[in-house]
Amino acid sequence: MTKKETKSVVLLQHHLKSLKLPTMLSECEKVAGRCATDNVDHLSYLLQLCELELIERERRAAERRLKAAKFPTHKTLDEFDFKAQPSINKVLVAELMRGEYIDKRENILLVGNSGTGKTHLTTALGIAACGQGKKVRFFQVTELITQLMEAREDRDLSRLKNQLSKLDLLILDELGYVPASKLGSELLFDVISTAYERLSVIVTTNLPFENWTEVLGSERLTGATLDRLTHRCHILETAGESYRLQDAKRRRTKRSSGKTDSSK
Ligand code: ADP
Ligand code: MG
Repeated sequence: MTKKETKSVVLLQHHLKSLKLPTMLSECEKVAGRCATDNVDHLSYLLQLCELELIERERRAAERRLKAAKFPTHKTLDEFDFKAQPSINKVLVAELMRGEYIDKRENILLVGNSGTGKTHLTTALGIAACGQGKKVRFFQVTELITQLMEAREDRDLSRLKNQLSKLDLLILDELGYVPASKLGSELLFDVISTAYERLSVIVTTNLPFENWTEVLGSERLTGATLDRLTHRCHILETAGESYRLQDAKRRRTKRSSGKTDSSK
């Protein structure tokens, strides 16, 4: 490299750094070498660098969205055994994975017994939404209620509500395990009302709708909450007993049939 070329490279690297183009900075020399060998013209070289920068930028943004969503575990639809859950409409789940319901501000309710895959499916839907560029936040209902009550005590409620209102998808997992206090229910209802027709909400619950009053307290509040959630919503019902229980039974059967075989 001539002295002039070395100076250009140093200056270029400096400018790319100032312009905050880290991938172009790290790749420019390598890609230049490849383009020189392949006789690629200048504009195509620049195009290749821009594409690399954009791909890397999108990857980092997706990673940030995933982290901000705070999923408790990483679950995908590939890992979901639809045969173990025949009551679930696989076609509907596949359609929901495409995320158009979020653009239409529609909600999803997942209802079913404990251990039947509600959180698994919800997490898979949420992760897919992050991949589609959507802002998602996963909460266990009790966790959200605690945060709302604490924020209210600290006179910081409007900041938290403002953060929630910027989401595209709010996930409320496990409504129904613990009854909320009167104030807790009101704060939760307020979040659901604000979300109504502005963003999508996914709620998972082990309780049939008629029992929601047990958690939310008043009939009036339960009615109003259900009214907002179920207007323009998809309902997925998981049936049967816990997947873990089914899995444990399968393993036990396998083990005991293995024993019988060996004793033959
Ligand atoms: P729920 O939220 O309905 O209580 P989870 O989604 O937490 O149930 O499921 C409990 C465990 O069983 C999780 O580890 C989940 O990945 C697994 N699981 C549940 N249903 C299925 C399924 N149909 N296929 C594969 N794994 C499943
Ligand atoms: Mg769950």
